[in-house]
Amino acid sequence: MSEGSNFLVRNTMEILVWQMVDDVMRKFPEVCSCEGCRSDIVALALNQLPPKYVATEIGEVYSKSNILESQYRADIIGAMTKAIVKVTESPRCKRG
Ligand SMILES: [Zn+2]
Repeated sequence: MSEGSNFLVRNTMEILVWQMVDDVMRKFPEVCSCEGCRSDIVALALNQLPPKYVATEIGEVYSKSNILESQYRADIIGAMTKAIVKVTESPRCKRG
């Protein structure tokens, strides 16, 4: 019999990138901010960043992500900046 688990494994890096994407994109007014391009930026940035998995109890949420954020902030912004440059060159919504 399967019980519902009280724990979730999440990639904290992914949470952080989603949390920071709007702030970083605001510095690049030329980048398209539609949902598709925004998702592309997050995906491209995450491909350059090491995943940081944590097991969290449901409800506990992101208390640990603040620590990670200060540790990886510069890396995340760097990866996101590269991703934004790429998407600006070839926005998915204006391709084809
Ligand atoms: Zn777009």
